[in-house]
Amino acid sequence: MKGIRKITPYVPGEQPDNPKIIKLNTNENPYPPTPLAEQQLKNFDIRQLKRYNSVDNSQLKAALAEKFGLTPENFVIGNGSDEVLAFCFLAFFNSKDPILFPDITYGFYKVWAELFNVPFKEIPLNDRFEIDIKDYQQENGGILLTNPNAPTGIFKSLSEIEALLAVNQEVMVIIDEAYIDFAASSAVTLLDKYPNMVIVRTFSKSSSLAGLRVGYAIGQPEYIQIIESIKSSFNPYSVDSLAEDLATAAVKDAAYYEEINTTICQTREWFTEKIAELGFQTCPSQTNFVLTTHPQHAIEDLFYFLERHEVYVRYFPKVERLKNYLRISIGTPKEMEIVYQLLKEYTEQ
Ligand SMILES: *Cc1c(COP(=O)(O)O)cnc(C)c1O
Repeated sequence: MKGIRKITPYVPGEQPDNPKIIKLNTNENPYPPTPLAEQQLKNFDIRQLKRYNSVDNSQLKAALAEKFGLTPENFVIGNGSDEVLAFCFLAFFNSKDPILFPDITYGFYKVWAELFNVPFKEIPLNDRFEIDIKDYQQENGGILLTNPNAPTGIFKSLSEIEALLAVNQEVMVIIDEAYIDFAASSAVTLLDKYPNMVIVRTFSKSSSLAGLRVGYAIGQPEYIQIIESIKSSFNPYSVDSLAEDLATAAVKDAAYYEEINTTICQTREWFTEKIAELGFQTCPSQTNFVLTTHPQHAIEDLFYFLERHEVYVRYFPKVERLKNYLRISIGTPKEMEIVYQLLKEYTEQ
């Protein structure tokens, strides 16, 4: 038949029904959302739903503007940051030159590039799995980096991000900060100096709201406006009223999230040290997951061993350089103790 599209979709981690499973395969937060959001949900007036939701998400933008010390015009909200990122592709990557992103990064970038027919070039991470900024000093139609990177967890310092921006001022540079709340510092402070940067964030990881589907971009108003135009040409009401309400409550409870996310970082450090005693080699992570390997063990077999013991982690058999690695999201201390014991049993058998 004519005109039928062939596509290779992004394949997310499994969402099993069994509540007994320790689910460490999609980098969700193990802790519940803020009690403020729960209260907001209880107070939500169902009659509101007979009307269309706010098309400009002014409530959430106002809360974000206050949090960051910026203006509401610096923000655009989307149905998850996946939607915002897809809009960024349509808004900013229209050059004939290839956009650049690392060979090992969020798997969705390649899917969008192919879906939207955007030429792209994958830049290999170095052999320590780090992004080398000098590799991004070449003719390009835009740059897309996750910082800290996924699935490595490795963070690029602000001075290195600045060095990248300094030599790429004629194209749009998108920084996906999905995990930034687990890391040292955000590139938001560079926005004034480098207006050609847009930062994308999500409520799915550090705000424990993956199922709510809210994400946003931060940038200069003139560029944010272009993303808004794409959104208006596609699905102007993509963020529903309930989602906007609950996400706003989350923005307002920074103290709660600071506490749970600090615990996650501490658990990550504990877990990384414990599995190092078993011989695992783990990338230095500033996220809520670790990428790890073991020189004496077949990782694929370990993946199925964990699955049989109702622990789900992520394995990327199709990515050549990641064949010997597991990505393990950081759960509660109790969950990570169970995982540690299983890894101990496996490596000592
Ligand atoms: C999880 C994740 C996203 C997607 O977030 P949603 O807001 O849930 O769509 C985007 N980028 C990276 C790097 C992620 O890990």
